[in-house]
Amino acid sequence: MISAERFAQKTVFSLEVFPPKPDADIHTIYQTIDELSEVEPDFISVTYGAAGGKNGCRTIQIASDIQSQYGIESVAHLPCIGLTRQQAETILKDLESHGIRNILALRGDIPVGVAALGDFAHASDLIHFIRERYDCHIIGACYPEVHPESASAVDDIRHLREKTDAGCEHLISQLFLDNADFYRFRDRAELAGIHVPIEAGIMPVTNRKQIERMVQLCGIRLPEKFIRMLDRYADDPQALRDAGIAYAISQITDLIAHGVDGIHLYTMNQPETAKRIYDAVKSLIQIKQHVPV
Ligand code: FAD
Repeated sequence: MISAERFAQKTVFSLEVFPPKPDADIHTIYQTIDELSEVEPDFISVTYGAAGGKNGCRTIQIASDIQSQYGIESVAHLPCIGLTRQQAETILKDLESHGIRNILALRGDIPVGVAALGDFAHASDLIHFIRERYDCHIIGACYPEVHPESASAVDDIRHLREKTDAGCEHLISQLFLDNADFYRFRDRAELAGIHVPIEAGIMPVTNRKQIERMVQLCGIRLPEKFIRMLDRYADDPQALRDAGIAYAISQITDLIAHGVDGIHLYTMNQPETAKRIYDAVKSLIQIKQHVPV
């Protein structure tokens, strides 16, 4: 189980993978994890399709194998939208029987056209539910640029505090491309009495389509220097990839200098990219410096 001590010793470095689609060969993910294990991550988290997504079993299987076959701590994402309490109970039992003791408790995105949303309205409801039933490390999501459905930054942080009050012990942020957004968010969290470790979510942008999709899905802001980079290398995929990796490395270097608790890399199942980034920052993450916020 992930413990608070880990954050006291070093800058935590964790990775996210997603399961192959239900009709794709599950073994491809193990080639990816083989390579990712060279990065020696503190943990690997495995996403879970919300609201009837069919890869939930794969999430649990892969998270279980990461621990048993690779000896790496794993985290199963668990979105609650569309779940009944009984279904959530069944999933928790399944997680328990597979020895998975770290859960990223999420609401999930509300899919278009879904009428019945199940028994959980917010991630904090799921966190309460898990806390009452299962001894595990609970993680929650947070949004440096404010969740797109939130009326204001104040509302957003108030609801985040509800998650930590409910028993969430650690937060992982949505990706962001301007570190100033993360630092402002961290200040708001501190003022709101949120004192759990906050990992910064970093996505190395290696192609234009990927970032356009993220802007559409998550409403993230593209800083001027990032747009310049996209425009300059738009016609050269290799150069754009190199520039995207360099951008992520510079974000991480600055975050570590500002005393970030952890870096959570959205790997997009691209181990080569993750390895290049890790090689560039591995000496930085070993030292835990206290930087006053
Ligand atoms: P919540 O914390 O419930 O917040 C959602 C909105 O509701 C926010 O605007 C919040 O301010 C508001 N809110 C919260 N509580 C209340 C309340 N009591 N009253 C009124 N408003 C309230 N999605 C997946 O489907 N699968 C995944 O594997 C997955 N992994 C993710 C990993 C990370 C690190 C992140 C950042 C996101 C991930 N998502 C995933 C996406 C996530 O499910 C969506 O961003 C979703 O829209 C919000 O989820 P949440 O858990 O933050 O929801």
